[in-house]
Amino acid sequence: MNFLYRLQESINRFMYGRYGNDSLNRFLSAVYMLLVVIGFVLRIIVRFSHSVVLYRIHYALYIVSLVIFAVTVFRALSKNHNRRIRENDFFMRWWGNWQPYFHKQAQKAEPKMRMFVRKMQDPDHIYKKCPDCKAVLRLAKKRGKHKTRCPACGKLFEVRVLFGDK
Ligand SMILES: [Zn+2]
Repeated sequence: MNFLYRLQESINRFMYGRYGNDSLNRFLSAVYMLLVVIGFVLRIIVRFSHSVVLYRIHYALYIVSLVIFAVTVFRALSKNHNRRIRENDFFMRWWGNWQPYFHKQAQKAEPKMRMFVRKMQDPDHIYKKCPDCKAVLRLAKKRGKHKTRCPACGKLFEVRVLFGDK
């Protein structure tokens, strides 16, 4: 307990007067994590494809992510609050134009993501949109061409299943 207390004390002393986190740092952290995920996927692809171009892209992303990480830590530990606040204001003016766009994209992607999860959890069925009323139908996964009737609007349409049971 005493050790933890002293550790907390020394962290507090170290952080005293330092800038900490702001919107710009949270954004940089998100970009950093995104780059780490992309880098991880690229590394797997490089291992199997031995592509030199992809290796270079992976390496460049790695360098960029290190720089972003260093900038984020530097800003959080900085004691020059005025300059960090000015950077954050500058960032917010730029982000203010983009934030509604990203928000809209995220809202648009949400039902697609939900449908993707539903499909993954239900491999025995396929999900097709009715060409007429756009209702999503859940159909048995049987290979070949089938005629099916949309229960929502009653329209008969053809479904082609490429992969599934015979
Ligand atoms: Zn329909």
